[in-house]
Amino acid sequence: MASLDIYFLDVGQGDGTFIICPDGTTILVDLGSKKNGHIAGKDAITTIKGLMKGKKIDHLFVTHGDGDHYNLIPELVNSHGFSFGKVYHSGPTSDYNRDMQGVIASSSSTSFHDQAHSSEKKPLLKIGSASNQVDIFLLSANYPSEDDSDKNAKSICLMLVYGSLKAILMGDAEAETEDFIMDNFSKAFLKADVLKLAHHGADSTNQESWLNVVQPRIVSASADQKWGHPYANTIDRVLKGKRLANIYQHDIVAGSYDASTKDYDWEVLSITEAILTNLYEITGSMGSYWNASGVAYVVQLGDDGSLSVGDTLNNISPWF
Ligand SMILES: [Zn+2]
Repeated sequence: MASLDIYFLDVGQGDGTFIICPDGTTILVDLGSKKNGHIAGKDAITTIKGLMKGKKIDHLFVTHGDGDHYNLIPELVNSHGFSFGKVYHSGPTSDYNRDMQGVIASSSSTSFHDQAHSSEKKPLLKIGSASNQVDIFLLSANYPSEDDSDKNAKSICLMLVYGSLKAILMGDAEAETEDFIMDNFSKAFLKADVLKLAHHGADSTNQESWLNVVQPRIVSASADQKWGHPYANTIDRVLKGKRLANIYQHDIVAGSYDASTKDYDWEVLSITEAILTNLYEITGSMGSYWNASGVAYVVQLGDDGSLSVGDTLNNISPWF
């Protein structure tokens, strides 16, 4: 059955999330920071090329104008011949460097109005149809305004909904952005399985009130420890979520969700193919759970909602 595949790419201290919808539609949310991945030297662009059949990505979201969210995109276009069907960005175009301004100018692009967001009943995008439909909701963009000096707060924040799976991608959103989202969406709506933590797991955001609402089972921090991300205080707050199992460590990969079977499978690639880093299963126990050398944490969500480590996972070792 068709699945929704979400790849948290290994870009070190940066963000890059590549999504393949069940109908084949491709979405890239940010691509910036380290060229070479931590694992086997495979870079994020090579990974995307391996996952794509062609060179046109249907939707590109650039969450905000910080280089660690877009600095690899001009290379993807200029050196590798990729193009985008539609580009969405936040903040004024002047937030971006000249190369990225060129990418935006050459594509059909959309910048959202101040404090833009979807309603719960009307997603920004509906991708696919009927049983394989993925809805993409805009949780926030340009908060509080396009011209505000805080680029992070303006981040485009998205929620993907496929069947009963929800995944939230927060860019570098600030605590006030989280408040804005909670003001505009119900708690029930915002409860999600997967959360890409805001701002690489920074302590100044990812506030407890927000984590209590989202209650993620799996978080991605998309960080190395260059700036101390993710912060221990953040992970402490995440771990208070209580929807937790054990932490396991693995070298890999990507989440895939089949809405018809409700099978949430974390596919495992060989070490040379491994692309993910800094994906954390949330557990009830603390440990030295971050690893800057390209380690990801992988789980399966069973039909009954239970969390377990997948049968196909190799080289797993308990984390603590
Ligand atoms: Zn960032």
